[in-house]
Amino acid sequence: MSDCIFCKIVRGELPATKVYEDADTFAFLTIQPTNTGHTLVIPKVHAANVFEATPELWGKVQETVRKVASAVEKGVAADGVNINSNNREHAGQQVDHIHIHIIPRFKNDGLTLFPHHDRREDEGEPVAAKIRAAL
Ligand code: 5GP
Ligand code: ZN
Repeated sequence: MSDCIFCKIVRGELPATKVYEDADTFAFLTIQPTNTGHTLVIPKVHAANVFEATPELWGKVQETVRKVASAVEKGVAADGVNINSNNREHAGQQVDHIHIHIIPRFKNDGLTLFPHHDRREDEGEPVAAKIRAAL
């Protein structure tokens, strides 16, 4: 994709602070970290989101995530990591090229995760049935 900023990073047309690269994937620091060491893992081939990913592409990205997550944790002496992917605009996706966030976490870093509630009855089996039917 000629206009995609992450494709431009892969092609070397935009600078990036690289942490890892292999034949299929690329990992680099985000310019707006949640915590220091916040890393993005992307496929080199353009696909907008999880819904466009082939099993093979997704598998390669996730294997790089697995590898790089350990290095991020060790590299910045974190106490854990969050691994997250935003898919589509209303899920917070700002760049339409698959990217997985690896966010280092530190004891008492003050960040809170998504809010949640105790599951209501109508959010149980009827919802699972709809999801199963969509598989
Ligand atoms: P999203 O909101 O789509 O899940 O995440 C987009 C991520 O890409 C954010 O972490 C944002 O800071 C990062 N980002 C956007 N533009 C650039 C860029 O030009 N270079 C780098 N390194 N990160 C970028
Ligand atoms: Zn792209």
